[in-house]
Amino acid sequence: MISLLAAPAAPKAGTASNPPPAATKAVGPTTAQLQVAERLVGPALTDGHAYSRLTELTDGVGARLAGSEASEASVQWALRSFKADGVKAWTEPVKVPHWIRGEERAELLPSDRFRGHSLQVMALGGSVETPPEGITADVVEVSSIEELTALGDRVKGRIVFFNHTMKEAEDYGRFAGLRGHGPSVAAKAGAVATLVRSLATASLSTPHTGSTRFDDGVAPIPAASVTVEGAELLHRVLANGGSARVHVVLGCKNLPDADSFNVVAEVKGSAKPEEIVLLGAHLDSWDVGSGAHDDGAGVVMVMEAARLIARQKPAPRRTVRVVLFMNEENGLRGARAYAEAHAAELPRHVAAMEMDAGGGRPLGVALRAGEGASELVQPWLSPLAALGAGKLMSGEAGGADLSPMVSAQVPFFVVRVDSSRYFDVHHTHADTLDKVDPEALAKSTAAVAWTAYAFADMPTTLARPTAPPTAPSLVAPPSQGTPPAPAPGAVKPATH
Ligand SMILES: [Zn+2]
Repeated sequence: MISLLAAPAAPKAGTASNPPPAATKAVGPTTAQLQVAERLVGPALTDGHAYSRLTELTDGVGARLAGSEASEASVQWALRSFKADGVKAWTEPVKVPHWIRGEERAELLPSDRFRGHSLQVMALGGSVETPPEGITADVVEVSSIEELTALGDRVKGRIVFFNHTMKEAEDYGRFAGLRGHGPSVAAKAGAVATLVRSLATASLSTPHTGSTRFDDGVAPIPAASVTVEGAELLHRVLANGGSARVHVVLGCKNLPDADSFNVVAEVKGSAKPEEIVLLGAHLDSWDVGSGAHDDGAGVVMVMEAARLIARQKPAPRRTVRVVLFMNEENGLRGARAYAEAHAAELPRHVAAMEMDAGGGRPLGVALRAGEGASELVQPWLSPLAALGAGKLMSGEAGGADLSPMVSAQVPFFVVRVDSSRYFDVHHTHADTLDKVDPEALAKSTAAVAWTAYAFADMPTTLARPTAPPTAPSLVAPPSQGTPPAPAPGAVKPATH
């Protein structure tokens, strides 16, 4: 066990050598608070509770796209789990899109230059189906929406293939718009279908799904992701003026909206229960794999934080509220429903975090808050030093499910985790429990538990961030699926 009491920055206020700080000066945790840190971090590291919970969610419930029966099973699982933990929990209604996958296959048709090849594809959430016999058309490759627009009429009747150069996790925000919005632009230009290169940092012929959204007034066209290998093949065939003809069959469907729920749980504050520290993660996943990293890991981290904090007596000053959002992946309906239902309370949300970047080890803490926030928070990170996460990180905290709270100027924080391998499996059949390292998950869980407690129990609260310069772009695109659009000074796009 790691001793946290040895960590620096535990001022004994009031002694001669350490006079009580002025109200404006940052005050770190007291000895009693550092003892709480021990009681949160120790069990998080040794109990294995978060990983057991993740096993229940991934193996027991599995893939849980919003609107599916499995997503409702995940809601019931979360309620049962909070109850077992002694944490008060309830559901709040959300109407969600209901999209289902069907048959999906594609092939590069033979030409006089090469034999045919099958292409591994997955429909993008929100895509419409092809006719039963499929669509056959020539392929045109583009690497940006601007390039697509510049093609004008040459797109008509074609399958638009969006290629890109994603290499590492940090590239996700740059290229996610090709998937999220590219098919809509292609449809408007007269394309008959689209193939989007998977947003991936590794591939063993694994297509990566994700959501796409068609603008109002645009007739949707079938849209699928294609593997990195398939994209490279198409690129080689099309290079130097070559042509490629592809046949694609998709059986996916958009059904009427379904009834679903956010799951909300809380540990009431002992002194200022009206002030809320929100811990978020999303309960839904894509319909493939079992959503272990995305976002089962985040779900069990925030649940475990609540379980451990609920055991502390007295409770922290402020209320710790966990929100398991529904429908982050293909609609953000849960995020919007929460912000609307709790609009009157948002001015009293003193800090909010969303854990949605996988179950990697913790690296540090990032903030999005007003002036003086870094100085205020830094002394409280000492208990994270032994976890390798005791530093404030550059870039702003945020998250797709928090985006509707930006306009209410809610301060955000996040425990950044190592996401360097997250996009190897993100939105694929391979996002399964075996990809999650129990030790890394335990460490990040410990970091979340202490950070949440610290924000709920520190003497003062974070200054609220200034009015958002780019709020509309933060709200528009759905999902870690499609993260908030990067913009200078805006909330850093989360890595999902
Ligand atoms: Zn996610």
